Amino acid sequence: MVAHAHRSLEIDRSMRSSGIALTPGMAICQTDLPLDWYQEEFKPYAEEYLALPDRTPESVLPWMDRYIVPALDHFGDDLMLLAHFYMGGEIVKLVERYGGQIADSYALALQAVRHPDKRVFVESAVHFMAETIALLKHDHQEVWITNPKSGCTMEALAKEDMVLPVFDDLYARYGEDLLVVCYMNTSGRIKALAGRTGGSVCTSANAGLIMKWAKDQGKKVFFVPDRHLGENSGRQVGYTDADMYLWPGGWDGMKQRVANMPAAELARLDKAGLILWGSYCSVHTHFRPAHVDYWRGQGYRVLVHPECEHEVVKRADGSGSTNYLWGALMQAQPGTKLAIGTEGHFVRNAIEQGAKRGVTVVNLADVPDPRFPSIGCGCATMSRNDPPHLVAMLDLLRKGTPPELNRVLSGDSIDEVSGWRERLDPTSRDVLRQEARRSLEQMITLTEAARG
Ligand code: SF4
Repeated sequence: MVAHAHRSLEIDRSMRSSGIALTPGMAICQTDLPLDWYQEEFKPYAEEYLALPDRTPESVLPWMDRYIVPALDHFGDDLMLLAHFYMGGEIVKLVERYGGQIADSYALALQAVRHPDKRVFVESAVHFMAETIALLKHDHQEVWITNPKSGCTMEALAKEDMVLPVFDDLYARYGEDLLVVCYMNTSGRIKALAGRTGGSVCTSANAGLIMKWAKDQGKKVFFVPDRHLGENSGRQVGYTDADMYLWPGGWDGMKQRVANMPAAELARLDKAGLILWGSYCSVHTHFRPAHVDYWRGQGYRVLVHPECEHEVVKRADGSGSTNYLWGALMQAQPGTKLAIGTEGHFVRNAIEQGAKRGVTVVNLADVPDPRFPSIGCGCATMSRNDPPHLVAMLDLLRKGTPPELNRVLSGDSIDEVSGWRERLDPTSRDVLRQEARRSLEQMITLTEAARG
């Protein structure tokens, strides 16, 4: 690592791009992880964090500054910190405080390739997001994740071992007529599968655009992994009930084989233009049509993310990506009442921001009726990136002793429970990277062209 001459750091004490400030006395919304959830190398930092008197910025920030300021000073302009909007534990605010960037998954994916001057990327988000940056990065850049066990339940139900046998069956039946479109929430191995068929990646922000492009090719589209985003964007471009076939997700998906399917089922599959892999987001499927009905009845405008079930999306006043939801909040007139159905930490930030703008925001799941169960704090797997993980990662990088487990390379496959990682050999990694980049670049080309 190249050390930089000391420079005086200007730490931003507010949220620059999101507009949310770290305020005195605010609680850091996250349950502490037990000590044995940390990697050995990270435990000393976690012990110090757990010994802090409370989780207010007054206690947490001086402790973080002690480690992070020297790391920022050491790396200077070589370093870029990144986080996704959905991160818990106030990581979003903390990363921005230390000069990092907060974005949705599309913008995050492009950070390395668009910033060739940066050399070290440290990501506080889930593994597939860090891997996507690694797939697109320049060769001289490196990507690190603060917690490799930070996964996505939707992605975990669409691992390569589950999807590949199904793809092989479908390819044997439909050959070149099969086109794989995958959501950003997939491993590089699934993105490579899409690339091999000439397919594309999509995000929640461009799913309609990509789905239309796929449909216009007149091929049979295999959409992996989110059944709800696939259905919502599929209906948007004209697929009907009869055009869609729902394949089971997870290990059940792998067990369903074309050779054993009853004739009627096979006929439905043959007829379908869109095959949906049956994975889903455990957070967004919490929202029910009754939530929408309740808040609309209270005079709220209901906005939801398209990972919600179709019935929820259909009843809502609007649906779209995190950028769409945040944009709707920022454009809302004072006095507007919004009920937002998406990840809890995002909504919590939206509530704070709305209060400053005279906009009342509620979490769509927070219906004041005991028959509606609580949705909890937010995405539990994303919340695995807490302050001690960020502190430890940066301090160990500065010292030149980062754990190899936290380095992210194309094709890495992680078990989110044990942290076990399968890494490809360099030749296989290069092949995978080329194939996955093909599907990512297809998405980027279509998206940028649509933006004009
Ligand atoms: S909110 Fe849902 S889709 Fe997003 S990372 Fe968490 S589990 Fe995955």
